[in-house]
Amino acid sequence: TLFSDFGLAQPILKALVSEGYEKPTPIQAQAIPHVMAGRDICGIAQTGTGKTAAFALPILHRLSEKSRPLARKSCRVLVLSPTRELSGQIADSFRTYGRNLRLSTSVVFGGVTIGKQERELSGGVDILVATPGRLLDLIDRGSLTLRDVEILVLDEADQMLDLGFIHALKRVVKLLPKDRQSLFFSATMPKTIASLADDFLRDPAKVAV
Ligand code: AMP
Repeated sequence: TLFSDFGLAQPILKALVSEGYEKPTPIQAQAIPHVMAGRDICGIAQTGTGKTAAFALPILHRLSEKSRPLARKSCRVLVLSPTRELSGQIADSFRTYGRNLRLSTSVVFGGVTIGKQERELSGGVDILVATPGRLLDLIDRGSLTLRDVEILVLDEADQMLDLGFIHALKRVVKLLPKDRQSLFFSATMPKTIASLADDFLRDPAKVAV
């Protein structure tokens, strides 16, 4: 399989050439066609497998296909991740792969002042990467609404549960539109994680590496 086989938009393929990516990794080859087709995904994949591009590339494609003016204090894609470090890396990946598109990416996490994050969200953003606690703080302060989310990504679900984010996650899901695409990734899939995935997903394609 080649990246050009997926039908990804030219500006995205161009960014991959600049990055020196030659061919998709196995998780990318499995996941990208499903995400492009609008399906939900339940994926078992560890860090280092190319998982981030497996969701970021087709998400960028879908956003670029269907451009839309942003509503204030809203986002079109919400990526939930357990830590500040991972959130920053995911946001960097969206910016890198989306460098030839006109889409905005923001990242919010706790432990830093909230005012700058509130200002960044005020005009709306295309892609928001967030840790669950700070995300809920922003919502409770009236600085963000999830009513325009088209695509949800939950990354490192097992680590989220280990860090005690289960209640936060369930609250977030209640605030999301029912009509959305959801992508769920975890390094392991014990029963507790599989049942959490069931709450998030509609007829998901299963991918594993
Ligand atoms: P991840 O598993 O998402 O943390 O990605 C691991 C690393 O692999 C990152 O540094 C990516 O930049 C890199 N990477 C992802 N996909 C590819 C690819 N298809 N070819 C070469 N490198 C890649």
